Amino acid sequence: MICIRCGWCCKNMMAVVPDNPRWGPMEENLIVTPGDGQRCKHLRGDIPGEYSCFIHNREYYHEIPCHEFGQIENDPNSVCRIGMGVFQQLGKDVNGYLQEHGFEIVVNEIGFPITEDSKGFDGASV
Ligand code: SF4
Ligand code: SF4
Repeated sequence: MICIRCGWCCKNMMAVVPDNPRWGPMEENLIVTPGDGQRCKHLRGDIPGEYSCFIHNREYYHEIPCHEFGQIENDPNSVCRIGMGVFQQLGKDVNGYLQEHGFEIVVNEIGFPITEDSKGFDGASV
């Protein structure tokens, strides 16, 4: 799944994350994000498409639940459907975003990559 940094999940989903970034995911250093629209304390940025996670590059990031966040998909080049929805509501161009950020794919309106393989029997993109 490709994250397009819309920021939605880091405000609207509960997750167990380290409180103090320096200590990492030790039992006595864990908090639960509010998940009620308030942002996770580690979220940086204010613009959909430009959010980032302050602890994303920490060596322990793969140990916290955020690392496992994904969606049902066959193709790892599918764009996050939540992010697709956020971009569509804001009128932001997902394919333009992908191009600007170096992804060599084009996706349809639900985030599936459009390739020869993804065309249905009638030739329509699915
Ligand atoms: S695109 Fe998906 S994974 Fe990325 S911030 Fe938005 S909701 Fe979260
Ligand atoms: S730790 Fe990072 S990825 Fe996880 S909710 Fe907070 S900002 Fe989002």
